[in-house]
Amino acid sequence: MHQSTKAVEERLDRFVRDKLEPAIYRDHVALSITAWQAPREPVAFEFATKQQYETVDLGWRFGRAWSTIWLKVSGSIPESWAANQEASMAAEIVIDFGYNTSRSGFQAEALAYDLAGKPIKAIAPKNSWLPWSYANKKVEFFLEVAANPDVAGEYTFEPTTLGDWDTASEQPLYELKKLHIARRDIEVWQLAQDIFTLRGLIVSLPQDSTRRHVLTRAIEDMLDAIDPSDVSGSATAARAKLKAALAAPANASSHRVIATGHAHIDSAWLWPIRETVRKCARTFSNVLSLMDEHEDFIFSASSAQHYKWIKDSYPSVFEGIKKRVASGQWKPVGGMWVECDGNMPGSEAMVRQFVYGQKFFQENFAMQAREAWLPDSFGYSGSLPQIVTQSGISSFLSQKMSWNQINRMPHHTFWWEGIDGTRVFSHFPSADTYISELSGEELAHAERNFSEKGRSSISLIPFGWGDGGGGPTREMIAAAHRTGDLEGSPKVSMGTADDFFAQARSEYANAPVWRGEMYLELHRGVLTSQHRTKQGNRRNEGLLREAELWASYATLKTGAEYPSAKLEEIWQSLLLMQFHDILPGTAIAWVYKEVENRHAEITRELLEIIDSSLSVLANDPSTGSSPQALTANAAPAARNGVAALGVGVRGKSAKATSAVEQGEFVILENEELRVKIDRSGRILSLLSLANNRDAIAIGSAANELHLHNDNPTRWDAWDIDEHYRNTKQVLENVDEFKVNQEADGSAVVETKRLLTAASGKTSTIVQTIRLAPGSNALDIGLEIDWHESEKLLKLAFPIDIHAEEVAAETQFGFVKRPTHENTSWDFARFESCQHKYLFLNEKDWGVAFANDSTYGFDVQRTTEANGATVTSVRFSLLRSTKFPDPEADQGKHSMKFKIRPAATIQDAVNLGYELNYPAREVQGNRVIEPLVSSSAAQVIIETVKLAEDGSGDLIVRLYESTGGRCDSRIAFAGAAEKIWLTDFLEMPTSADHSAGGSIDLQFRPFQVITVRVAGLQIA
Ligand SMILES: [Zn+2]
Repeated sequence: MHQSTKAVEERLDRFVRDKLEPAIYRDHVALSITAWQAPREPVAFEFATKQQYETVDLGWRFGRAWSTIWLKVSGSIPESWAANQEASMAAEIVIDFGYNTSRSGFQAEALAYDLAGKPIKAIAPKNSWLPWSYANKKVEFFLEVAANPDVAGEYTFEPTTLGDWDTASEQPLYELKKLHIARRDIEVWQLAQDIFTLRGLIVSLPQDSTRRHVLTRAIEDMLDAIDPSDVSGSATAARAKLKAALAAPANASSHRVIATGHAHIDSAWLWPIRETVRKCARTFSNVLSLMDEHEDFIFSASSAQHYKWIKDSYPSVFEGIKKRVASGQWKPVGGMWVECDGNMPGSEAMVRQFVYGQKFFQENFAMQAREAWLPDSFGYSGSLPQIVTQSGISSFLSQKMSWNQINRMPHHTFWWEGIDGTRVFSHFPSADTYISELSGEELAHAERNFSEKGRSSISLIPFGWGDGGGGPTREMIAAAHRTGDLEGSPKVSMGTADDFFAQARSEYANAPVWRGEMYLELHRGVLTSQHRTKQGNRRNEGLLREAELWASYATLKTGAEYPSAKLEEIWQSLLLMQFHDILPGTAIAWVYKEVENRHAEITRELLEIIDSSLSVLANDPSTGSSPQALTANAAPAARNGVAALGVGVRGKSAKATSAVEQGEFVILENEELRVKIDRSGRILSLLSLANNRDAIAIGSAANELHLHNDNPTRWDAWDIDEHYRNTKQVLENVDEFKVNQEADGSAVVETKRLLTAASGKTSTIVQTIRLAPGSNALDIGLEIDWHESEKLLKLAFPIDIHAEEVAAETQFGFVKRPTHENTSWDFARFESCQHKYLFLNEKDWGVAFANDSTYGFDVQRTTEANGATVTSVRFSLLRSTKFPDPEADQGKHSMKFKIRPAATIQDAVNLGYELNYPAREVQGNRVIEPLVSSSAAQVIIETVKLAEDGSGDLIVRLYESTGGRCDSRIAFAGAAEKIWLTDFLEMPTSADHSAGGSIDLQFRPFQVITVRVAGLQIA
C-alpha cells in the first residue's frame, strides 16, 4: 500500500489548528465591562464592589505588575438561545487577557464571583471559561483579575526587576482581548478530545506497529468525513469514524495508571505569599466546579496551610471542600503544614510539619493523610522514613528524583529505609511529572519508564495545571475517560493516592529497598542561597525549642499560663517559611523581604516568652533572698557547672587565654588548645594539648576564605554547578589585623578585608578567631557586608585526618558521606547538607565543627608528599546569584562556627547544641533542677512541651544521637501519675504505662521516642 503516516499527522495538525479549535465556540455576544483598579494590595469583595467603576473596551491595556483589577461584567443571553436550549450547546463566558495561552499559568489569573460574592470559577490561560446557565438570562458577575507578571518567562534566567512591587515597572502587562458569552458546540469539543487522545497515542506507538497504522487510517477516514466549511455539521459523522479505534480494548498485560487530580501550588515562589492565598482560592473553585460535572473525578491537595487560608478568607469555598472531602471525592494528602524543603528543616520542625498538618486535617476534615506528598522538594533526608511513620503515615510519594543530573534512581516503587532502619513504602510517578495532562505521550512514558515492570503493573499520575494554571481541566478528565481501556495505552482510572498505594503494595510487598538519604543531583545551591532566611530559620527553630522548654516548666512548676495558641501560631509561620521555594532561597525578592521581617518578629515574640518563663522559674517570691546572676542552659550537656536543661550558678571561670605575638604569628593558648595564626588570619596549627595532636595538616592553612565564580548554566539561585571549582581565588590580603584580650579572659584575633568587585562595590569581611578560657573548641565569627556578584564564598579547613567519610547532622541523627569520588554517585555529591554539626574522624581521633546558620558544605581529600591524607572541609557561606532575586544575599550577614579537635561523635553532637543554644543570663533567687534528664549522654532531649490537646500533659521527645544502642533512664523533676509512649501525634503506641518519677527506655540507633507524662507533680 502506498501510504504516508507522516502526511496524515501533518494534515491532522492543520485541521485541528485552523478548523477544529475555532469551531468549538460560536454565536459570540458582546458584554459590557466596567473596571476599577485596587490601589495596591488585594481587597475584599465587599470593598471592591462598592467602588466607582469605569467603562472599558476590548483592547484595553491594563495591569501593572502585581496589581489587582476588578471588572464588573453585564449583558444578556439572546432570546434565540433561550428558546433553543439544546443539550449539544453550552452557554459559556469566554475570556482572554492577552496572555500566552501555550503556557498553563504564571501570568494573569482571575476569580469570578456572583453578585453575592460567592466564587464561581477561575480564569487561567488554559482554562479561560465560565459556565453560564441558559435560565440565567441576565449576565452579571465580577472578576478579580490579578496582573501577576511572568517572572520566569521562557526560563532564560535573565535578571528581572519583576520580583517586587517596588522594582517592577508601571507598564501595563495585559490586554483585554476577549470577554464575551458564546455557545460551546459539545460535539465539536468531543471530537477535539477524541483527537487529542488518539494523536498522542499514535506518536507513542512504534512506527511499525499495526495499531499505529490502524489509528492513522481511522484519523484519515475521520478527516475525510469532515466538511471543512461545516465542522459543526459534520462532527458527528467524523466522530463515528473514530469510534472503533477508541473502542478497541487494552492489552491484557498493559500498565495500569491511577490518575489523581492535582494542582502543585507553591506556597510562594515567583509570587509573594499573599498571591498563593488567591491561587489556592482560584484553583480550588475550579476543582469544585469540575466536581459538579464529574462524579468520578478525584482531587488530591496537600498543605494544611493552603486549606487554612481558604478557611479564613473564602468560607464558601471551604464549605464546598469539606462536603467533597466527606463524600470522598476530595483528598487532603501529605499531612504536612506545607510541602517543605526535604533537607534543611530541623528535627522538631520536620515533626511539626506533620503534627500541625495532621491536626488541621483531623479537626477540619475528620481524617488524617496516609501518604507523605513531596513531589517537588530538592532531595529527601534519611530521617524522613521514621518521621513520617511516627506521624501516622504509611507511604511516601515524590517525583523530583527524576531530575537527577548524573545517576538514575533505580526504582519507581520501592521501600525506602531511613537512617534508623524504618522503612516506608514509596513511589515516584514514572510519568516523571506531577502536572500531567494525561496525554498519550505522558501515559506511554509512564509505562516505558516504569522500573518495576514485570513485578508491578501500576503507577500513579497526578494530573492538573499547577501554580495558578487552575488545576485539572474537563479536557484532562475527557482524556482519562478515553484511556480507561484503550488498545496501545496504559489503562487509566481516576482514584486516590490511597487507592494506588493499597494496590501497589498488595501487588509488590517485596519491592526493592533504597537505603539512606535521597540526594538530589541538582539544585545544590539551595543549601546556601539567601543566607539571612536560613539564619532566621535556624535561630527561630532554636528559640521555639527553648520557649517550649521553659514555658512548659514554668506552667508545671508555678501554674503560669502556657502560651499554646501563640506557640502554635509561631510554629505555623515558621513552617510556612520552610516551604520548598522559600527556605531554599529560590523565590523572588518580595518573599525574602517579608520572610526576613517575619523571622525578626518571631524572634522578638519568642524571646519574650523565654524571658518571662525563666523569670517566673528562677524567682521564688516566697523567700526573701535577693536575685543574683543565674545561667539557663538549654543545651543537652552541662555547661559551666549548670546542668543540661537547668538554671544555676555559673562555675568559676578558667585562667585567661594567653595571646603571644611571635614574629609573623600569634599564638593563642589555654589549658586545652594552642592555636597558631598568621597575619592573614589563617590558622596554621590547632593543637590539642591533652594528646599533642594537631588538627591542621602540616603546610596547610585553615580558616581560609575561597572565592569562586558562581554562574550556573541554568537555575541560578538553585544550582551550584560542578564547574565552579575550576576557578578559585584565595583571599590572602588583610586590611586590618588586631589581637585583643577581652574582659572574660578570651583572646581574639580579628582581621578585616575589603574586597572590591568588578562593579566597583566593596564588600567587607571581618573574621574573628576567639579562644575562650578553658575552652576545648575554637570560636570563629564572620561579619560580612556582601556586595559581590555571581560569586560563591567558602571557608576552608584542611584537616590532618584520614577519613573515608564525614558525618553530617540531619534530623535526629547524621548521614555519612564519602570524602572520595569513586563512583558516579559519590562524584555527584559535591555539595551537601549539614545541620548544626559536621564530624570527621580516624579511629579514636576526630574533629568536630558546629555552625549557627550554614547548611551547604563540600569535602575533598588530597594526599601530601609524605603520603598523609588531608581531608578538606569547606563551608559555603554566601552566594550572589541574579535570578530570581537580582539582589540575593546583598548586604549584612553574620555567622558563627566552632571547631573542636580531639572530639568524638558525641562531642560533635553536643558542640552543635552548645553553639546554637548559648547560655542565657537570668536574674533570680532560685536554682532550677532540670525538668527532665536522660542518664545516657547519647540520648538527646530534643523537645519538651505541653500536649497539643490542651490536657496539660508533658510531652518529651528524645532520640539516640550517635548511631549506637543504649539504655537510658529518663527522670522527671517530680512524680507523675502516668507515663506512657506515643507517636508524634501524641497518641499512645502501646497500652503499657507506669507511674513515678522516671521511665527506663531502650534506644536503637537514631531511634526517636516520645514520652507523655500526666499528673506530674513538681517537687
Ligand atoms: Zn514546587
